[in-house]
Amino acid sequence: MNLILFGPPGAGKGTQAQFIMDRYNVVQLSTGDMLRAAVAAGTELGRKAKSVMDAGELVADDLIIGIIGDRIGEADCANGFILDGFPRTLAQAEGLDVLLAEKGLTLDAVVEIRVPDEALFARIEKRAAETGGTRADDNAETLKNRLAVYHEQTAPVLGYYEKKGLVDTVDGLQGIEDVTADITRVLDGKR
Ligand code: ADP
Repeated sequence: MNLILFGPPGAGKGTQAQFIMDRYNVVQLSTGDMLRAAVAAGTELGRKAKSVMDAGELVADDLIIGIIGDRIGEADCANGFILDGFPRTLAQAEGLDVLLAEKGLTLDAVVEIRVPDEALFARIEKRAAETGGTRADDNAETLKNRLAVYHEQTAPVLGYYEKKGLVDTVDGLQGIEDVTADITRVLDGKR
């Protein structure tokens, strides 16, 4: 099963991805995690991405499509994958379609975790306090920009998948376990 977990920063995609991995035996591909690893390792990709990420802007589409293209061909993806934080622009969604077609893969589901902006501010401030600033982009200033970028560039991606009839929406304001239960219902229906 190949799916996209869709939602704004702080919606709980990472938390839910963990559970989906265990239940459906698929791997999580988080472009944010991959980029942070590249920054930490000081690779060329990391050097290009760092300042863009710190500002809450998006890393260039071709770089992102390239890393996903390399990753989904690896052996551990054979049973399926969860895309977390990708695609974030229409160009990335179109790029993904090309990659999937090349590899003979299909997308089975797009699960939107819906959370209003007001709730996201509170969550990210809490995460910033708990992680003690491990993530340079978890602060009120950058979050404002990440949300603006989300509404301008990422939200339209949902329409792209709605047209294909692939989107199911769950209420991300519920407790973690209730969100998990809703996602389970959606994904069990696709197996
Ligand atoms: P968030 O908590 O905002 O969803 P992520 O961990 O997914 O954060 O991403 C952190 C940052 O990494 C983003 O603000 C962006 O700069 C960069 N990034 C991650 N995924 C992508 C992507 N698909 N396209 C462009 N930039 C990305």
